[in-house]
Amino acid sequence: MEKRGREYRGHVVVLPYPCQGHMNPLLQMAKRLASKGLKATLATTHYTVKSVCVANVGVEPISDGFDQSGFAQALNEEVYLEAFKTTGSRTLSELIKKFENSTSPVNCVIYDSFLPWALDVAKQHGIYGASFFTNSATVCSIFCRIHQGQLTLPVKLEETPLLIPGAPPLNFLDMPSFLKAPEAYPAYLRMKLNQYSNLEMSDWVLGNTFEELECEVAKGVSELWPGMLIGPMIPSAYLDGRIEDDRGYGASLWKPLSNECMKWLETQEPESVVYVSFGSMVALTVKQMEEIAWGLKGSEFHFLWVVKESEHGKLPEGFADSTKEKGLVVTWCNQLEVLAHHAVGCFVTHCGWNSTLEGLSLGVPMVGVPKWADQLTNAKFVEEAWGIGVRAKEDEKGNVGREELQLCLRKVMEGERSQEIKRNASQWRELAKEAISEGGSSDKNIDDFVGHLLGGKEIEGRVLNGC
Ligand code: UDP
Repeated sequence: MEKRGREYRGHVVVLPYPCQGHMNPLLQMAKRLASKGLKATLATTHYTVKSVCVANVGVEPISDGFDQSGFAQALNEEVYLEAFKTTGSRTLSELIKKFENSTSPVNCVIYDSFLPWALDVAKQHGIYGASFFTNSATVCSIFCRIHQGQLTLPVKLEETPLLIPGAPPLNFLDMPSFLKAPEAYPAYLRMKLNQYSNLEMSDWVLGNTFEELECEVAKGVSELWPGMLIGPMIPSAYLDGRIEDDRGYGASLWKPLSNECMKWLETQEPESVVYVSFGSMVALTVKQMEEIAWGLKGSEFHFLWVVKESEHGKLPEGFADSTKEKGLVVTWCNQLEVLAHHAVGCFVTHCGWNSTLEGLSLGVPMVGVPKWADQLTNAKFVEEAWGIGVRAKEDEKGNVGREELQLCLRKVMEGERSQEIKRNASQWRELAKEAISEGGSSDKNIDDFVGHLLGGKEIEGRVLNGC
């Protein structure tokens, strides 16, 4: 298409919050859009840019004000977020300007919903802005209710659960932790609520979930915004296989010990291994670490456990040596590769939204051990809405004990309910694949989005500026 006398195709700049659980789905979105004919550029901080290695997507640095070591360099969340807003706005604007006289000027910024200032930058440049939510539709809907004043903080649901059409009744236990103890996480809570501060100005609201997964809830959310569900954002090889060589996200803040994991998994029986990971952010208490360690050791199952370098000191002394025969402990792995391996029979997960979508998309039954944030709500869905696993019960100090862990492992691996859980897990895998495959609900939404960016169409009667 010709525009302003130049060869023109839509060009999106994709801006994630610079942590693993946000870079993964946004980078995946960039790859998906590039595979459909858009030019895509990932804009990420100086500190994280060196961790990205991906084909068909441009990668450009912006600054969060802490170019040496990112968040770790800031005094606290408050300082970090403020600096990111100021320096990020300026450097994102410079990046958009850099392409202005090129053959492919930027016509849309897809920004992490944590960074709503990016929409202001897009609008200053007269281009589209699309907010990308990395949580479930249910969690977005809960925070939106707070923003709109329908729910007050701290959330108290001791007597009546929160009823959201399409979701199981949500009790106090199932609510995101930021809402139960708002004073404990002021900066994060403000950031979560800020996602909605200028959302009505956003041209699209993209959600990393899919219609079949959160059907009714998703409908409710799209009544509030021009919402589009485009997930699951997982490398194509594990779902539709339409993007060539797309086997990993393409960003890793830690070095995955892939060969070691694959070699070890090859020696294991089909569906015999318990894979354990608490994602990139959770820090367990020493007690919780011990309970998991002794729970795994005492169970009859073999296990692969990701214990990040920063958590190693909490492992009971001699644990790795005393479990050499049945377990492997690594500091980081390629989680998708592990989940896709036929030896893995169960995923003990903190229920971060990416891990939840990954387990579901690969059809792996789960034991949820949620610790904070939206993990608690996701675990509820794993157990009650989708029936693809169980949620482990915590004791009064918030720890999951060794016996409870073993009980959950037995339920999922071999108990009465395990057959049903496995059946549900395979069905959800098929639905996830369908959603992102040609003509699926998410695929159609992505095509629609791409169509607008390539053709500059109207969105539901609104003529959008700048394109
Ligand atoms: N992950 C990984 N290797 C690991 C553990 C996690 O690649 O050893 C990836 C995982 O595939 C997921 C992301 O890290 O995409 C974690 O995101 P999630 O939302 O599950 O949790 P968070 O880290 O944000 O708490």
